[in-house]
Amino acid sequence: MSGNVHEAQLVSATPRADGVVEYILRTEEPLRFRPGQFVSVRVGVDSDGNPILRSYSIASLPGRPEISLILKLIAGGPGSVFFDTLKPGDPVRLTGPMGFFVLDLQHTGDVVFGVTGVGITPVLSMLEDLAARPERGRIILYWGNRHAQDLFWLDELAAVQKKCERLHVDIFLSGDAPSWSGKRGRITQALLTDLPSLDKPVFYLVGNGAMIKEVKAELQRRGVDRKRQIRNEAFFG
Ligand SMILES: Cc1cc2nc3c(=O)[nH]c(=O)nc-3n(C[C@H](O)[C@H](O)[C@H](O)COP(=O)(O)OP(=O)(O)OC[C@H]3O[C@@H](n4cnc5c(N)ncnc54)[C@H](O)[C@@H]3O)c2cc1C
Repeated sequence: MSGNVHEAQLVSATPRADGVVEYILRTEEPLRFRPGQFVSVRVGVDSDGNPILRSYSIASLPGRPEISLILKLIAGGPGSVFFDTLKPGDPVRLTGPMGFFVLDLQHTGDVVFGVTGVGITPVLSMLEDLAARPERGRIILYWGNRHAQDLFWLDELAAVQKKCERLHVDIFLSGDAPSWSGKRGRITQALLTDLPSLDKPVFYLVGNGAMIKEVKAELQRRGVDRKRQIRNEAFFG
């Protein structure tokens, strides 16, 4: 395929959490990308014959022969229906990599991730990248979900934490979760409460657009510089 258009094939589909499925795709050549980037997938055509496209962050690490996409399936959504009905060997046309939600080349202070739901998909490879850097600041992940059934990658996050003492993972549940012994509520409040203790932070906000809008506005109200200190990727809303 020419340019950055790739003809991929589905290798496997594996449920990871409630309504969350991981799709492994093989491209003709390993896709070169930076952690945090996404691909645009052709998921159908509309009634005028125009392609229907959906974006998905790359959930796997660079340099592998296959890429992983992790989807929260939305009932009746064209992208969700397309992936839900794929079978191993089926073709998937994607464009990319694209996007500017990537790590700064260097951080002089703390690195803070504010993430909701499936917005975690680009974050694991960003954490792996940070873990390998000789930087000194803390890395703090605030990950908000509704229910315990929404969670995945707990072992993977624990594995990065094990090799990277600078990483702190804080998981919040906002819905009914009687047996949950972790933190509760929304990440916005927790992040703003912790703000005064952060050292020259750079924020990476990803997931629900409403969360991003609110956190950005509140951070700026408290003196955080949008251009220098906030990076964001809204998945929807
Ligand atoms: C840069 C980028 C990266 C993205 N990466 C991912 C990813 O890694 N995994 C992923 O699942 N999605 C990701 N998305 C969202 C994805 O592109 C689709 O919007 C999503 O899969 C729904 O598409 P659909 O066609 O199934 O439903 P649509 O018909 O397009 O959407 C139906 C409704 O669901 C809402 N919606 C979309 N996503 C969610 C969600 N997670 N939770 C609740 N409501 C939602 C939409 O706002 C819309 O109102 C990303 C979006 C962008 C812009």
